[in-house]
Amino acid sequence: MNNTNEMIVEFKSVAMNESFARMVVAAFIASTNPTLEEVSDVKTAVSEAVTNSIIHGYDSQDGRISILSRVEGRQVYIEIRDEGCGIPDVKKAMEPMYTTRPKEDRSGMGFSFMEAFMDRLEVESTVGLGTVVKMWKEIGVVKHHFE
Ligand code: ATP
Ligand code: MG
Repeated sequence: MNNTNEMIVEFKSVAMNESFARMVVAAFIASTNPTLEEVSDVKTAVSEAVTNSIIHGYDSQDGRISILSRVEGRQVYIEIRDEGCGIPDVKKAMEPMYTTRPKEDRSGMGFSFMEAFMDRLEVESTVGLGTVVKMWKEIGVVKHHFE
């Protein structure tokens, strides 16, 4: 039986698409038979990454965001890509409570949430070219948040 599947979706960088991105990924991973909590974890991670692309990557200007997702059995892979401004220091950006927009009610916890809610997180970014956030999660495996 072939239990692998893949999808790519691309959309405009507007706030309205944060919920679209959450829903489309949730629908796509339904074949892994996730619990409500697992779906909610994946949705949170996806919206954090998409929000970052909209707000930071494109500075709320026009741009395209794409999501590639793959399921293989119960393994879920999600890649969120923008062609925005990029991140000068990825390691620093990923530290909890680090934000370049402290005045705008940002808590700098987006990457920490992605890390907590997924099994693995990798961020690749080039200033002037854009950012790719890669996330993995195995459905059906208990993980303790913030352990
Ligand atoms: P919060 O997510 O809690 O609202 P935040 O977005 O500032 O705050 P993170 O999501 O952890 O916090 O991101 C940390 C920093 O990394 C951001 O402040 C921003 O400088 C940078 N960053 C994150 N994603 C991108 C992106 N796609 N393009 C450019 N810069 C980014
Ligand atoms: Mg964020």
